Amino acid sequence: MTRTHCPYCSLQCGMTLVSTSSTTGAGSTTGAGSTTGVGSTTGAGSTTTRRAAGLEVQPWAEFPVNEGGLCRKGWTATELRGHRERLTTPMVRDRATGEIRAAGWDEALDLVAGRIKELRTASGPDSIAVFGGGGLTNEKAYQLGKLARVALGTSQIDYNGRWCMASAASAGNQAFGIDRGLPFPLADVEQADVVVLVGSNLAETMPPAARHFDRLRGRGGKLVVIDPRLTTTAQRADLFLQPVPGTDLALALGALHLVDAAGAVDEEYVATRTHGWDDVRRSVASWWPERVERVTGVATSELRALVDLLTSSRKVVILTARGAEQHSQGTATVLGWINVALALGLPGTPYAGYGCLTGQGNGQGGREHGQKADQLPGYRMIDDPAAREHVARVWGVAPETLPGRGRSAYELLESLGDGGGPRALLVFGSNIVVSAPNAHRITRRLESLDLLVVCDLVMSETAALADVVLPVTQWAEETGTLTNLEGRVVLRQKAAEPPKGVRSDLEVIAGLAERLVSTPSTGSGTDGPTFSTDPEEVFAELGRASAGGKADYSAISYDRIREEQGVFWGSPRMFTESFATPDGRARFVVAEHTGPAESTDEAFPVHLTTGRVLAQYQSGAQTRRIRSLPDDGPFVELHPMLADRIGVRDGEPVVVRTRRGELTAPAKVVTTIRPDTVFVPFHWVGANRLTNDALDPSSRMPEFKVCAASLGLATSSPSGSDYSTTDRAAGLTA
Ligand code: SF4
Repeated sequence: MTRTHCPYCSLQCGMTLVSTSSTTGAGSTTGAGSTTGVGSTTGAGSTTTRRAAGLEVQPWAEFPVNEGGLCRKGWTATELRGHRERLTTPMVRDRATGEIRAAGWDEALDLVAGRIKELRTASGPDSIAVFGGGGLTNEKAYQLGKLARVALGTSQIDYNGRWCMASAASAGNQAFGIDRGLPFPLADVEQADVVVLVGSNLAETMPPAARHFDRLRGRGGKLVVIDPRLTTTAQRADLFLQPVPGTDLALALGALHLVDAAGAVDEEYVATRTHGWDDVRRSVASWWPERVERVTGVATSELRALVDLLTSSRKVVILTARGAEQHSQGTATVLGWINVALALGLPGTPYAGYGCLTGQGNGQGGREHGQKADQLPGYRMIDDPAAREHVARVWGVAPETLPGRGRSAYELLESLGDGGGPRALLVFGSNIVVSAPNAHRITRRLESLDLLVVCDLVMSETAALADVVLPVTQWAEETGTLTNLEGRVVLRQKAAEPPKGVRSDLEVIAGLAERLVSTPSTGSGTDGPTFSTDPEEVFAELGRASAGGKADYSAISYDRIREEQGVFWGSPRMFTESFATPDGRARFVVAEHTGPAESTDEAFPVHLTTGRVLAQYQSGAQTRRIRSLPDDGPFVELHPMLADRIGVRDGEPVVVRTRRGELTAPAKVVTTIRPDTVFVPFHWVGANRLTNDALDPSSRMPEFKVCAASLGLATSSPSGSDYSTTDRAAGLTA
């Protein structure tokens, strides 16, 4: 029996994995985390789905975040073990024929290292790039950053978390001096009086979290949901506001205007714990409710109802998620909501404050340990001389050998190959072809590389384009830590042996480093760069590298995590005395609403927004292969009025076009979406061929959540393969 955590989202639900050879009773599914309220966590627990390839998922009732509950993705997570598409041998492509064949590990790693050396000699270290993922463990993220800076010597590293919480991170740093998703345990929302969710459909994206919001409502608390769609989460709300996509900031400015007009600003808190209120007060003076209504489509009465709730109690929590953040003004939008929280005196007070609901499994830790273009471990900035000195000492290299900051995720991908930037890319834990915005353009960049190396469990759409594919372990087969949405560091524990032929990412990194660094070893000394393959050893080194940084893990150990069911870095409840700024005060920052980068017009008259569905996770590389999870492909959700206008009925194919591409998928006609907006889920190839690559100026977050689109009747129905390029692009011969 192994206590571990779900492989998917940032809730990092605790679960127990039991070897089926040691269980009795044919895998009873009773009591498997049943729960009440939003997003039932039962239903996926059939015997076959919970017992796959020798492992059964059982609840871990004592783990406080999910209390034994899991969503259907968690219950079925073991199904990828033993999956027929699981990669178990390295694959190498013959560029002359395009065919890919099985290879030995030494051959594959020698080939990769050899080409890297050639490129470095010809074009310098920045001709090599690394792309990581927000699902990688802390140990992998740390070691990947070290591989880039020490073994490759490149500044060109970033990761897909840049597309997830980067805007909230940027805003948190500006306002509070630190970036932590939730500065309090999630269960604290139960004790609040009002919770405002801006752009989160947590009942579908993380159903077990919904229990905490149900308990809030059970106590008489109020839930407010702000979303362009009346989602499953919104259907439980006491107040639902449905703004035009891309106008959440205007709503925040209008809310703050009314808070001030009502005399509800906490003047003492503002005077003693913050700076910058006067400028922000002036900036919201012209955001009267009628103006907000014109911009957002939210009626003045609804805005006033929101402000009545915000000012009704001291225990108010404001939470943002991707719906508010994945915009070219995402940082400003989060700052707008933080300004509301600061004016009401919420951050740092009991059962109140602002927080961001992170998305990916290690969304928090993934951005703390060095796989971001501008950061070193411990959330240190790479251009800070003291930070470089500290980390270089831990790594056993001279500080001046560390490269400077590189390009952000989208800018890095956009520069690849023909784009004039790096000629080689190593990908760990990311399926770029599906998840990058303006995906046609990025796929062409990947195809123009001299060398594409992808580490993955299966032949994802990105792996299918690679010159070398390296098969790696999956979650149940490895140990490592992740940091959940609360800043709680949890321990993923190995429960089963990987298939023969598969290596861990740490082993891949060490194998490459061994071939690329002149004096490598696998020890833990500090007299030269070392690349351990033992996760606990890597974690201890990560602790030393992060010591004294903003995200300091030096006091955390595997033993402590086991004993305490997760350990928070820093304090579980932050900002109670001071903020992480030089003078301890939070900053109000003026946020100006400029609107989305792309406006609707005659040619593209509707707003397109994207998001997730309950049964799938991110790019779908894992969940689309799990049979127990429904996979009907993408759909185009639209309002009956819009459907009538173009003459399409529910289930008929409809084509969505933007300035970047088009997608044909069945219409899903619902009354729960704004009539001027369409929604497409992004788990399949297609949605991100449509999305806009306009970037937030501060966080470099692309504008996934809104662009201008047109709709029309499709002349033919799409086939399933339109949504997955895997088999065709792979040209598999082995
Ligand atoms: S909510 Fe997230 S962590 Fe929990 S079971 Fe579902 S996917 Fe896994």
